[in-house]
Amino acid sequence: MMKVNVWNPSVELLSRDELDKIKLQRLKEVIHRVYNNNQFYRKKMKEKGLKPEDIKTLEDIKKLPYTTKEELRELYPYGASVVPLDSLAEVRASSGTTGKPTVTLYTMKDIENWSEVMARSLVATNIVKGDILLIAYNYHMFTGGFGFHYGALKVGVTAIPAGVGFTQRQVMLIKDLGVTAITSVPNYAIRLAEVAFEMGVDPARDTRVRKGVFGAAPWSEEMRRRIEKIWDMQAYDMYGLSELWGPGVAIECVYKSGLHVWEDHFIVEVVDPKTGEPVDVEEKGELVFTTLTKDAMPLIRYRTRDISRILDENKCQCGRTHTKIDRIQGRTDDMFIINGVNVWPSAVEEVLLKEPLVAPYYQIVIDRVDALDRMTVFVESRTKLGENDKIALAKKLEYELKEVILVTPRVEVVDPGTLPRFDGKPRVVVDKRAL
Ligand SMILES: [Zn+2]
Repeated sequence: MMKVNVWNPSVELLSRDELDKIKLQRLKEVIHRVYNNNQFYRKKMKEKGLKPEDIKTLEDIKKLPYTTKEELRELYPYGASVVPLDSLAEVRASSGTTGKPTVTLYTMKDIENWSEVMARSLVATNIVKGDILLIAYNYHMFTGGFGFHYGALKVGVTAIPAGVGFTQRQVMLIKDLGVTAITSVPNYAIRLAEVAFEMGVDPARDTRVRKGVFGAAPWSEEMRRRIEKIWDMQAYDMYGLSELWGPGVAIECVYKSGLHVWEDHFIVEVVDPKTGEPVDVEEKGELVFTTLTKDAMPLIRYRTRDISRILDENKCQCGRTHTKIDRIQGRTDDMFIINGVNVWPSAVEEVLLKEPLVAPYYQIVIDRVDALDRMTVFVESRTKLGENDKIALAKKLEYELKEVILVTPRVEVVDPGTLPRFDGKPRVVVDKRAL
C-alpha cells in the first residue's frame, strides 16, 4: 500500500450523498448571489427565462447559460464582481495575450478557500510539513506562484518563492537549502535538470528532491517518466485556471490515475466544444466549471477550452470520493489543423518521448506549400548523432507519428542544445501559415 496523506478528511472522504448535498446547497446560494448582485448574470438568466428558484437539483445546472472567456474580457476590469470593491483583497490578471487581460478578483474569503484547496492538493501528493518546496512559478500578476505559496503556508511546508528564470541560482538553492519538492511548468523540471548537470550536479544523486507538482501546461505520460527518472522523484499533475482562483482545482493523488476535482468548491461538467451539449461520463470534451465558493467573482458554467473527460469511478484507492478527471489532453486553443485533421501537441510529445534517443526538446513548425499544410517536427537527440543515424531516427519517428496523429509530418533530428529553452510555458508550435 502506498502512503496516503489527507489534509481534510471530513470533506475529502465524504460519501457521495453528503457531498452532493453540500454541492446543491452551495449551487443554490451562488445562483442567488450572482442573480441579485451582478447585472451580467441577471441579464443572461432573464434572457433564458430563469429565476434562481428554478435551480432545484444538481441536474438543473444544465439550464444555466455558459460563461465564456470573451465575456469575462468584456467585463474587464470589475464587471464580474458581486461584492463591494472595497472588500477586494487582491486582483490578478491573466498572463499577457493580445488585448485586455482577464482579471481575477479575491476577497480574504477567496484567499482562505484557495489556500484550503491548495493545502489539500499538496498533501494529496505527500508534500507535508517538513518538506521544503521550491516554487518556480511566476509571482508577477499570475496565479501560479501565490497559489502554491498560500497552500504551503497553510500546510506548514517551507516555501521558497523562487519565481522563474535564473536557473543556475535555482539549482544552487535546491542543493544548498535541501529542497525536497519542486513545482513549475513541466518542461522547466527538465530544464532545471539540464542546467544541474552542466553545473556538475546530478539531480537524482546530489539533491533531496523526491516530489514534484507540475501544471499550467498539458504534458504527456512520457514527459512524466522522463522527469521522474532524471530527478528520481514522484511527479504529479495539477489542474487549475487563473479564472478559478488559479492552481488547486484538481490534483492527482499518489495513485496517479486521474485528478480529483475538489467538488465542494467546483462543479465540473464536460461538453462538446462545438455544440455545447453535455457528453457522457468517460467521453472527451471541454471542461466546464461552476464555482461554488468563489466570493468576489463566482463563475457559472465557465467554458475552459481545456479538453479532458470525467472518469467513471465512485471511490479512488486513496479513499477520496471527489470525482476524477483525466489529465488535460490540450486546450482547444492549442489544437492545430493540418489539412483538415486535428492535431494536439501533447499527442506529438507522447510519441517523440517514447523514443529513448530523443531529448525532451522539440518544436512543431507549420507552413503552407502549394496550398497544402506542411508540418515539420524538429527534435533534439540526447547525444550528438551521425548524419545516417539522424535520418534513420527521423524516418522512424515520422512513421510512428503518422500512426498516432494521422498526418505525415517531416521530422528533423537536430543536435543537443539546438532548440530554444523556455523558463515558462514553451513555445511548442510555430504556425507560419497566418504570416
Ligand atoms: Zn485518489
